[in-house]
Amino acid sequence: MFRPGMKVAIGASGGKDSTVLAYVMKLLNEQYDYGLQLFLLSIDEGITGYRDDSLDTVRVNQQEYALPLTILSYEQLFGWTMDSIVREVGRKNNCTFCGVFRRQALDKGAASLGCDVIATGHNADDVAETVLMNLLRGDAARLKRATAIITSSGIGDDGSCVPRCKPFKYTYEKEIVMYAYFKRLHYFSTECTYAPHSYRGFARTFLKDLESIKPSSILDIIHSAEQMTVKTDVKLPPQGVCTRCGSISSQDICKACVLLEGLNRGLPKLGVGKSSRAKKFLQHSSLPLQQNNQQTASSTSSSDLLSQSSELW
Ligand code: SF4
Repeated sequence: MFRPGMKVAIGASGGKDSTVLAYVMKLLNEQYDYGLQLFLLSIDEGITGYRDDSLDTVRVNQQEYALPLTILSYEQLFGWTMDSIVREVGRKNNCTFCGVFRRQALDKGAASLGCDVIATGHNADDVAETVLMNLLRGDAARLKRATAIITSSGIGDDGSCVPRCKPFKYTYEKEIVMYAYFKRLHYFSTECTYAPHSYRGFARTFLKDLESIKPSSILDIIHSAEQMTVKTDVKLPPQGVCTRCGSISSQDICKACVLLEGLNRGLPKLGVGKSSRAKKFLQHSSLPLQQNNQQTASSTSSSDLLSQSSELW
């Protein structure tokens, strides 16, 4: 996953996984002289009573670990907070917006810092959940890469331009909680206000039920998925560049821009569901955009980001 001299952006949410990841990476980097340059990168989705509090925890850890911290917000990048998005779309599809925007926000943040890789705190439970979700959705292409410990260098096959790695891929959530507890690390443990209705939440409940019957279920699911071979004709579409914002995309207009367009036009469901419907609309629509904010994904370049972001060095 890492080579000496690499710049690594650690996705820091203030939760137990990313807190333990930052702590362990700093510890090992110093103890074994790995020669990595570590950065904390946080995304503020704009969820009152959740992310604002968890970012306070990230700031405390930034002081304790003495790592540089960059915070980028959805509001600054896209002109919308998750609170305002939920007011428009309700609580059913909110995580679709949040996931797409977070992926792009992390990409932009890591690219602006010149990082070679983004390390995330995804643990074994998260990976097993993702495998289950892709199975339940019949998404063979995503299933193929769900267990990858690192996305390929260069343009990742998930449409991101900075590779992602998951050092805790085989680490149980319980182990991480116990490590954080016994090391007395500071972390934020409240669940997202908008989480209960997410599709992942149902997969998680199912997984916990399975685990109570057979404790090895989580690693069994990961190992099974690693052994699965997906037909070679299940291909991902070729990657290009979004004509609106310049992000890597398999479509002319990337998912984040389609979702944003829907929000700005008062049609929040536009980018949810069938992409062909949104594509048709965007091709035939000539209505001027009602920008929610002047500074949107389309107009924010990576080089502008560091000067706008909240930085603590
Ligand atoms: Fe975003 Fe959904 Fe996660 Fe909340 S639960 S942070 S809305 S993806």
